[in-house]
Amino acid sequence: MSEKLTFAPISYTGWDSLSHLVEEVNRFNVNKILVITDPFLQDIGLTDKVTAPLKEAGYATDVYTEVVPEPPLVVGEKLVAYTRDHQFDMVIGVGGGSALDLTKLAGTIAAHEGDVADYLNLTGTRQITKKGLPKILIPTTSGTGSEVTNISVLSLETTKDVVTHDFLLADVAIVDPALTMSLPPKVTAATGVDALTHAIEGYVSKNASPVTDALALQAIRLISQSIRTAVSNGNDKQARIDLSYGSYLAGLAFFNAGVAGVHALAYPLGGQFHIAHGDSNAVLLPYVMGYIRQDCEKCMKDIYDAMGFSSTNLSQEEAAYRCVDELKRLVEDVGIPSSLKGFDIGENALTSLTKDAIKQTRLLARSPMPLHEEDIYTIYHAAYEGK
Ligand code: NAD
Repeated sequence: MSEKLTFAPISYTGWDSLSHLVEEVNRFNVNKILVITDPFLQDIGLTDKVTAPLKEAGYATDVYTEVVPEPPLVVGEKLVAYTRDHQFDMVIGVGGGSALDLTKLAGTIAAHEGDVADYLNLTGTRQITKKGLPKILIPTTSGTGSEVTNISVLSLETTKDVVTHDFLLADVAIVDPALTMSLPPKVTAATGVDALTHAIEGYVSKNASPVTDALALQAIRLISQSIRTAVSNGNDKQARIDLSYGSYLAGLAFFNAGVAGVHALAYPLGGQFHIAHGDSNAVLLPYVMGYIRQDCEKCMKDIYDAMGFSSTNLSQEEAAYRCVDELKRLVEDVGIPSSLKGFDIGENALTSLTKDAIKQTRLLARSPMPLHEEDIYTIYHAAYEGK
């Protein structure tokens, strides 16, 4: 068996890696740059760290600040129209996954005919045929891995859908943990567990390979050893560095191996209840892994060890069981509700959540255990009850 692995962008990682921005922009023959970010990051001066050196180097920069968390389709349509109208030479995304996903859309879809909706995975009818503008992606959360994936996620009325193509990939990713120091505990927790979920789902995925396994296990180690500290003491530089590398590695792992059941069940929580992506993944992670663990016990044992525990004197079955317990403990320790009730979701919502989750066939196909409608309902029910 062989596999295709894509590690596309030139990446700069580590503390102060943003200092490489201008030298990278200089490699492209550009003048007019659109910087895409959210209003909060603009207000706290984070975006200035990107625009100031660009302006100093003589580039014309326009800052677009209409990014919102979990961006709805209409926000993507508006940004693409803006990009088309203003003839930019390059797009730079600064922010969490929401800003980075929109930047990928702006750079590529603006070079095409039609609406963003025409290119959605589940319902779109048009094909992406060209790369569009060069893209630089600069994450300010340690979570989504969007800087290394070819995916843009959009919120629809009751669920989420993606635009996905290798032409969406960044040309350059700059993953500087210094930009994450201002993340509040709640966002640190949700985005950090999002990254952990990417690594875990990538590791147990049916599409995993020795390369993605190496990335995923190191991501699990780094995230597990740093997330509690990063949440309780956001000024801890080493915890921020570890979480940043963990998120980047998890992004590379899941982009190549895929995510599965947790994400399939999380998307409707985001769509129907507007729960942040990281929180949706976090609340479901222990329940999905608990349900499927008998079909991936060896992987769960490895995950347990990578989380810093020892399975040496345990059977595979016992280690997998304890792994699920530790995942639940981790989610609770970082302050995320451990049941759907904690997000004010009633039992009457479980059927409609199930109906939307079952549509995520691309994700569900990678689950080590096949998940049918009744399985999905059972998992939601366990997550609702919190047991
Ligand atoms: P986000 O981008 O929505 O940001 C969440 C909040 O954190 C915002 O209010 C933002 O202003 C704030 N924030 C960001 N950086 C900050 C900083 N350094 N200091 C203080 N506040 C900061 O959150 P996210 O979890 O990074 O992204 C979520 C989006 O990414 C969702 O739409 C999700 O579906 C998508 N996603 C995409 C991929 C992919 O591969 N493309 C993967 C997973 C998730």
